[in-house]
Amino acid sequence: MAANTKLLRRELRDGRTVHFQWYYSTVFAILHVLTLVAFVPMFIHVSSIVVFFIMAWIAGGLGVTLGYHRLLTHRSFVTYKPIEYILTVFACLSWQGGPIQWVGTHRLHHRESDEPGDPHSPRDGFSWSHMLWIIHSSRIGDDPAKLTKDIQRDPVLCFLDRYWYVPQFFLAAILFALGWLWLGNPMGGVSWFLWGVCVRVVVMYHATWFVNSAAHTWGYRNFETADDSRNNWWVALMSFGEGWHNNHHAQQRSAAHGMRWYEIDITYVTILLMRACGLAWKVVKPQRPGSS
Ligand SMILES: [Zn+2]
Ligand SMILES: [Zn+2]
Repeated sequence: MAANTKLLRRELRDGRTVHFQWYYSTVFAILHVLTLVAFVPMFIHVSSIVVFFIMAWIAGGLGVTLGYHRLLTHRSFVTYKPIEYILTVFACLSWQGGPIQWVGTHRLHHRESDEPGDPHSPRDGFSWSHMLWIIHSSRIGDDPAKLTKDIQRDPVLCFLDRYWYVPQFFLAAILFALGWLWLGNPMGGVSWFLWGVCVRVVVMYHATWFVNSAAHTWGYRNFETADDSRNNWWVALMSFGEGWHNNHHAQQRSAAHGMRWYEIDITYVTILLMRACGLAWKVVKPQRPGSS
């Protein structure tokens, strides 16, 4: 009931009606149940946990954070087109939608930060900003399309946007086969599938959603932005540096989200490594707090 009250408040804020989406909700529910199944002792193996971390880094760190967010949404750096496409495929493995929808929704979040048109603001309720917003159709008009003209000019990104859910099935089959081979029985394949796909997708869902919920609720601020964004260390740890969210709202194009020495930002380190190897250029530099 509390959630309904929040949703009602949401409707009052921007006049939109929200509807529960059974399709997405069922997928989310199944993934969460399979995540619990992964903790049955017969499915817990060291190799499965290693697969979990590797896939979390590939899909969450390189895909969503580096690819969808810093590269496609904010153009914080430039790289070769094939690398852009590879990062986008990695991001598709997160099952957070295709590049047009993801980038459009996030650009809308920056345009309307914590204002009534924000797709996921804690001002509409913490649980709304965390995950309720995504299991309801609060269609934001055609704004994601309007805000992603640059993405839509690229036929490969359009193709990936249409079939974003497909690479996960290939990965699931590959992990099942490799797990079976590595551990010597079919249950080993199931274990690698559970940890490399289900647990990893669910954990990265919550890591991403905490950026929208926790990093707009708890933490400190280096910059007096008009929104509620916060720098939150544990969200940064879960999300490959995205938790330094107040810094990011203040300097949206900066390739670095961590701006003080203790604000560790693995994704910025990755971008600097790419630049050192000649794989990234036009890296947008941050203005440190107090330097402007
Ligand atoms: Zn934000
Ligand atoms: Zn952003």
